[in-house]
Amino acid sequence: MAQRIVIVDDSALNRRMLESLVAQLFDVEVLAFGRSAEALERAPMLGASLFIIDYRMPAPDGMAMLSAIRADGRTHHTPVVMITAAEERTVCYEALERGASDFLVRPIDPREFTKRIGNLLALEASRNEAAEHLEREEAAARLNAARLDLIWRAGTSIANDETFLHDLIEGASHAIVDGCAFAAMIARLDGTDFVIEVGNAVADYGGEGVGRRIAVAAHREAVDADAIEAVADLPLERRGAGNWRAALFAPFNVGADRYFVGFLSTEPKATPFSAFDTAFLETIANLCSARLQQRAQFERLRFQTEYDALTAILNRSSFRARGFAAMRASNALGLLILNLDDFRHANETLGQQTGDALLVEVAARLNATATSDETVARLGGDTFGVLIANCQDRADALASANRYLEAFHYPFGTGDREDRERISLGASIGIALAPQDADGFEMLLARADAACLAAKNAGRGRYAFFDIAVEETFAASRLLQNDLQAALTRNEFVLYFQPHVELATGRIRGAEALIRWHHPTRGLVEPNAFIPFAERHGLAGAIGAWVMGETARASREWRSADPAFRAWFNLSAAEMRDATLVPRLREQGGDLSGLGVEITETVAMQNVSETLAVMDALRSAAIQVALDDFGTGYSSLAHLKRLPIDVVKIDRAFITGLPGDRFDVAVVVAVLSIARSFGFETLAEGIEHEAQATFLQSAGCALGQGYLYGRPMPIDEFDALLASQHAGVLL
Ligand code: C2E
Ligand code: MG
Ligand code: MG
Repeated sequence: MAQRIVIVDDSALNRRMLESLVAQLFDVEVLAFGRSAEALERAPMLGASLFIIDYRMPAPDGMAMLSAIRADGRTHHTPVVMITAAEERTVCYEALERGASDFLVRPIDPREFTKRIGNLLALEASRNEAAEHLEREEAAARLNAARLDLIWRAGTSIANDETFLHDLIEGASHAIVDGCAFAAMIARLDGTDFVIEVGNAVADYGGEGVGRRIAVAAHREAVDADAIEAVADLPLERRGAGNWRAALFAPFNVGADRYFVGFLSTEPKATPFSAFDTAFLETIANLCSARLQQRAQFERLRFQTEYDALTAILNRSSFRARGFAAMRASNALGLLILNLDDFRHANETLGQQTGDALLVEVAARLNATATSDETVARLGGDTFGVLIANCQDRADALASANRYLEAFHYPFGTGDREDRERISLGASIGIALAPQDADGFEMLLARADAACLAAKNAGRGRYAFFDIAVEETFAASRLLQNDLQAALTRNEFVLYFQPHVELATGRIRGAEALIRWHHPTRGLVEPNAFIPFAERHGLAGAIGAWVMGETARASREWRSADPAFRAWFNLSAAEMRDATLVPRLREQGGDLSGLGVEITETVAMQNVSETLAVMDALRSAAIQVALDDFGTGYSSLAHLKRLPIDVVKIDRAFITGLPGDRFDVAVVVAVLSIARSFGFETLAEGIEHEAQATFLQSAGCALGQGYLYGRPMPIDEFDALLASQHAGVLL
């Protein structure tokens, strides 16, 4: 490139002379100014390589110009040669002091001129070269620093994903070539095309066409070579006059999705990416891939904590979180608690797996029923919650509740058994509103829950609004629950015993233990008032264990006086399902052969196979089994035959009418004959009159129990009764 010499001299003659001297130099351009002010204004921007200035000029004179040139950053280093007259030698020294590179004294010797000016130009050229080199080095160093900084920041970033990925890919495009047009992207391969997830728009670099071609290449897996080829293939008008550069990295999987990271540049005259550049971009691509994996993992984790694992709808804790947030944000909220009717039964008869499949179907249907104002969640077991935003009054909530109840009008499939089995289910819904019913979400939940219980009690398959009466029964039930729990630790339970008597002789053969509750304020409470409740609230097991232990303890003494004596106790449905029942009995040690267990017909028939197993286990521990309340349930005779039982206890309902009621007579006679033929012993419950006893004995019933022989009584009374019997008194 030619060097430019700027001449400033007010005398046209001198200018021409200087121009002709300069013209002898190799590869130079000349710009001559007659007015120094104009030169000062324009020359710096014109990129002078050297100034030749006349000292003596109208202001600004040569010295002033020199100072101005030195003060300007653009010409600070540019050589300046001052021209003076011979008598102005002191000026020359001053000029040197002020930063002139050299001076020439008129009249100018042409050889000296070309020599000195030539030297200065050569010096200036090499200085320029050195400066440019330094600049390049500095730019490279800056770029490297930017790259390192980017990678370092990526390693320590806690930014959320979108920001992180954007910054990374954006940063990479800046750190690859300074100021160069650059497209960087993270793309998700999507069947036939790809979707840019983050990155600067590829559209700027050739539009859709490039995208598609890259996608095609990426599909072919051999991304690098093919994609670059694909870019090179682009029609000229698409890629413009510049060259393409591309670095596309092999696709990778994130979960079920396939991604790739790509970098493209359209910088005119771009050289291919250096190995160093590619290594850097590859690092960025790897960082992107790592973060995408991390994001997928995070999503999975979030799903696990926010969604129910079985049904994949919101779980209880995220429902609560949303509920609390909704409560803060709005004051018109509705809450439905939906509980499936008799789901436990469905679960027990169809099996756990089908039960699960049903829950999945129900959840999906409820979710599909939700409007944009409603949030559905599984709160646990067979209970679901619906949060209704913008729910002004009961009418709003009712419209929702009816919609959810209607969802149960059609039967449900059971997963893969869809076409084989459709099962009808019902649901009960409790409704509570805020702010009408509650001023906090916790309270709203509790009240909708109470309303749901009320809907159940009112007969299922319906809704109930919360009202304060519901709250009261709910509170009463809470109270009872707390009381029952405390009763065990406070020793408020007692066992009463009622004799089993041999009808023919009046001899006491055993006793049934019947629980009583000495309630601190309610007095003596009958079992029917709390046993079913205890079962519903999961307290039957603890109470049963206590009964079992007490009965076993009492029986030991009675058995030592009479080795044939047997103490019976009642088992609840929950205990029948408890596999630890027999092991726990064995743990108590002692002689289990003195014990008998009463299981009601209804409980025994709920789950025949389980019942059979428990009964077998009991009998193998030498514990006898009685079928209690026989005749009130629905056991088929075929089942009766299969049951491993010792005694059938005919329910009091059939005894009451004896011997006059012909129906009762027929039933009792039939039961006695069947039981006998199966080899079971028989016991009649609730004998209150002599006539009943006489009839039963003549019909072949061996044992009896009832007020005629003795009411249920505290243990010391029973002890006394036994003692008198041993002394010869028969009932
Ligand atoms: P159940 O096993 O059928 O017990 C017989 C019930 O009939 C007892 O009522 C008893 O007092 C009553 N009874 C006996 N003889 C006569 C009579 O001649 N006339 C009349 N009217 N009633 C008579 P109780 O003690 O109120 O027990 C009721 C039910 O509560 C029991 O029926 C049993 O199913 C359950 N139960 C009692 N104790 C326990 C227990 O410790 N555990 C469990 N799971 N259930 C128990
Ligand atoms: Mg009983
Ligand atoms: Mg009974």
